Amino acid sequence: MNSPLYGKIRVSQRYKGASHKGIDLVGVDSKEIHSTVDGIVEAARWDMQSGSSGIDTSYGMGQYVRIRAEDTDYRHYFAHMSQILVTAGQRVKRGAVIGIEGSTGNATGSHVHYEIRRTTRNTTFLNVSELSGIPNQLGTYEQEETDISDPALEEAKRVVQEKAGLNDNTMVYLQSYRFGEELIRKLAAAMAEQV
Ligand SMILES: [Zn+2]
Repeated sequence: MNSPLYGKIRVSQRYKGASHKGIDLVGVDSKEIHSTVDGIVEAARWDMQSGSSGIDTSYGMGQYVRIRAEDTDYRHYFAHMSQILVTAGQRVKRGAVIGIEGSTGNATGSHVHYEIRRTTRNTTFLNVSELSGIPNQLGTYEQEETDISDPALEEAKRVVQEKAGLNDNTMVYLQSYRFGEELIRKLAAAMAEQV
């Protein structure tokens, strides 16, 4: 499956079509929200009622991120974040940390509302469970490590470790840092430019 939360996750609300257009997930092991696709961040902000000027922190999706998957029109929504860690216009890879789970907006407890739409209109929602492989059933599941391995990240790790002459322990330490994976990608890109 392709879940925005890694490790153990709990499905706290099923996808129900028009009456619940996404699936609600609670991170048991980690509250970090990862992009499920390579794409462009189209929105990273508070959800706003159209016509309203001020921020209502208990409205709709709360702090949310919308990513358009590369080469498609599909929009992936990650809602109710306590913290947003990307900005609109940014290109992200699958697996990148884009925010932290929270309960902003219309939410009673901490969870990620994960929704996929064909356009930005809220009538074009798709079956997120089918597309992501996350079971549409309340319960606790595990995002397997093998499902989330990213070839580009693996290559970046190899480049950084080799060129900087780092040992395995240092690499583990780097990755355990919250933005470690992004740092490794940036270092690898910088090292590639130096040649
Ligand atoms: Zn929801």
